[in-house]
Amino acid sequence: MHRSAFEALDRSDPLAPLRDNFLLPPGVINLDGNSLGALPRSTAARVSRVIEKEWGEDLITSWNRHDWIEMPQRVGDKIARLVGAGAGEVVVTESTSINLFKVLAVALKMRPGRRAIVSEVENFPTDLYMAEGLTKLLGQDYILRLVPAHHLRHALGADTAVLMLTQVNFRTGALHDMAAMTAAAHAAGALAIWDLSHTAGALPVDLDGAQADFAIGCGYKYLNGGPGAPAFVYAAARHHGQAAQPLYGWLGHDAPFDFATSYRPAAGIRQYVVSTPSILALAALEEGVDLLLQADLSELRAKSQALTEAFITLVEARCTGLGLSLATPRDPARRGSQVSFAHDHSYAVMQALIARGVIGDFRAPDLLRFGFSPLYIRHVDVWDAAEALRDVLVSGAWQRPEFQQRAAVT
Ligand SMILES: *Cc1c(COP(=O)(O)O)cnc(C)c1O
Repeated sequence: MHRSAFEALDRSDPLAPLRDNFLLPPGVINLDGNSLGALPRSTAARVSRVIEKEWGEDLITSWNRHDWIEMPQRVGDKIARLVGAGAGEVVVTESTSINLFKVLAVALKMRPGRRAIVSEVENFPTDLYMAEGLTKLLGQDYILRLVPAHHLRHALGADTAVLMLTQVNFRTGALHDMAAMTAAAHAAGALAIWDLSHTAGALPVDLDGAQADFAIGCGYKYLNGGPGAPAFVYAAARHHGQAAQPLYGWLGHDAPFDFATSYRPAAGIRQYVVSTPSILALAALEEGVDLLLQADLSELRAKSQALTEAFITLVEARCTGLGLSLATPRDPARRGSQVSFAHDHSYAVMQALIARGVIGDFRAPDLLRFGFSPLYIRHVDVWDAAEALRDVLVSGAWQRPEFQQRAAVT
């Protein structure tokens, strides 16, 4: 294998032109777009326009004049196209954690008498914490049942109100079969909630086709919405107008500008909005989402699988005997758009890699994690990243003292 073969793949990549829509610092390979996506070229100008024209000149009239008030639903409808949902089923609002709390509470209310939330013990901690907090709030009868992924089906029973899963595991990149697990939840009489934080914008999703009940996901990962971008929430249309989510914010009211004393939930997805949206953050997110809408999602998936497959092959061929072991499923159909390798000194190895311009991250206890955002990662980046990893391991560069210091964010 030669670098030139990877350059040739980039020349025939149908998604290659989309990379030019991102501002990527020279000499840096961003394999952490699964934590913070790259900056679209258009974002700074868009946000400046919103600040200077819409806010600065048009002031509060912009809520109507520039349709600020509709933005959570407009951007939600765009994200819906990326996750297999219909118009009016997705809204952008608050954060992933907060949105999970809302949909979990709704799902529990829709299954009275059932008291268990079932999830995977390896799920992302905030998902587990939000569920734990909600069960404690609701009282002693409610439980959070956590099991390894291969025991999930057995953990579903007559007491189960909801199966709560993240489609792509944040550590290993393992991908759940959404349709099959949703069907298993339904067969047990439970509802299914999907966290799409590592899925949306990385691979095609078919929420409606899978009969999913609720979903949530991040705006700042593969959607490239910027640090702390607002999140999205999906509620299947058949569940609209059932239980109201419990955070009764005024913008989820049926008629916010009636200023009525008591709450009456909006009929549709807007009921999931709580507070006044951050228009600057929504404008930045819309730029990222608009870029993804230019991509063919099956081409995106094919490229993502080619990138992760090439990275595994190159690293295993070039780094034999250097202490790495693959933590990601080998079958491309069973993983998302990331690859993780375990190593005894993974923190220091990742710091040394970052110092060389290959940005991935460390996930405790021992994982080197590499995300491949197919919109802007090239095939040749895969080659260069694998070479840099080999060099860091062979040279022992990771042993330098500065790479041993744990930072607050890993
Ligand atoms: C990144 C991520 C989150 C982040 O939640 P915030 O509320 O945005 O901090 C939640 N769940 C999963 C599965 C994630 O990967």
